[in-house]
Amino acid sequence: MSSKIAIESAMPAARRSRQARVVWGDSVLTVGGDAPVRVQSMTNTDTADAIGTAIQVKELALAGSEMVRLTVNTPEAAQAVPHIREQLDRMGIAVPLIGDFHYNGHRLLTDFPDCAQALSKYRINPGNVGKGDKHDKQFALMIEAALRWDKPVRIGVNWGSLDQELLASLMDENSRRTPPWGVKPVMYEALISSAIESAERAVEMGMSRNQVLLSCKVSGVQDLVSVYRELARRCDYPLHLGLTEAGMGTKGAVASTAALALLLQEGIGDTIRVSLTPQPGESRTQEVLIACEILQALELRSFVPSVTACPGCGRTTSTVFQELTKQIEDFLRAQMPVWRDKYPGVEKLKVAVMGCIVNGPGESKQADIGISLPGTGEAPAAPVFIDGEKRMTLRGDGIAQEFQKIVQTYVETRFGAQHAASAA
Ligand code: SF4
Repeated sequence: MSSKIAIESAMPAARRSRQARVVWGDSVLTVGGDAPVRVQSMTNTDTADAIGTAIQVKELALAGSEMVRLTVNTPEAAQAVPHIREQLDRMGIAVPLIGDFHYNGHRLLTDFPDCAQALSKYRINPGNVGKGDKHDKQFALMIEAALRWDKPVRIGVNWGSLDQELLASLMDENSRRTPPWGVKPVMYEALISSAIESAERAVEMGMSRNQVLLSCKVSGVQDLVSVYRELARRCDYPLHLGLTEAGMGTKGAVASTAALALLLQEGIGDTIRVSLTPQPGESRTQEVLIACEILQALELRSFVPSVTACPGCGRTTSTVFQELTKQIEDFLRAQMPVWRDKYPGVEKLKVAVMGCIVNGPGESKQADIGISLPGTGEAPAAPVFIDGEKRMTLRGDGIAQEFQKIVQTYVETRFGAQHAASAA
């Protein structure tokens, strides 16, 4: 007798963070707890250029960023923030703005109340709020601004700007241990202590625990996993995840994906950012697309219909299959701004574009709509499968256009009907 047991489908573990609210105007974004894992990004424009920054925020928001962080580093940048908010409101872009402060945040938040009010959240780096006896005072001024304007804060610790006095004191303490810890565990401890102790200080000053988020960013995948596992074990503040200085191109994308996926699968992380260095000429929105893809691949969220495509091999000696895959992906992405509201649930649509008979029909049957293109030497016919059944066969030069129309009709019929039923 076989003693096999059913293998359960893998799913990310439940998160256990408390929930925070990010508010702007009449809009509210929940973060942490049972809220979806949120996508965040950051502009790289000069914030003092209000129009240029508002345009980039719009691009990031339309790409799927649910919060956008801005550098607020000078009086000119602080003065521009309310104008950026106004521009976005005028363009109908409902995305909260987060102010990223270092060194002079206490002054900017005090001297520019309109900026403090227009922002929806403040990022405070405890390693950059001042040294010696100025540290606590300047940190307190930023928390007072958050209390005055009722804003949540993210205590954002970074490996590259760690509180050096705290690190030195932990190194001293470590030298008295027998045997002493290695350098890395002391660094990990310094990152985590800096975040949690700063959060506790903010709470002592009157911040609600539901208005404090934490992050401890490092640039190594294994370091990030080690730090966040411990951080999540020690507190229930919502956690912002990101591999800092992830790098450019595939290196940055892969390192970020590896780190974030490991933690998200364990139920750790409430907001994410992919800190990608854009390639020359590359859109800033690339980091948002990758963040969305990570969440979608882990089945944590759905943003756009997914296209399953085989990699191609010696059986696909023409470029037809690659071209159709690209066309259908571009088509689906381009439709989403309209489809999202018109056809609720369409983001869960699964389309397959396959290169030959080997896996084509099988994979196409698993999708909502799939097409199996003819491989080299096969008859020039492309069967189309809808909801697991072969419904038609396309032939000739217009396969791409015909398949696009079939997808459009399927979306209207299936998701339009749902919309009509829910509106009735
Ligand atoms: S489905 Fe066909 S073309 Fe695609 S990878 Fe498999 S064998 Fe190659």
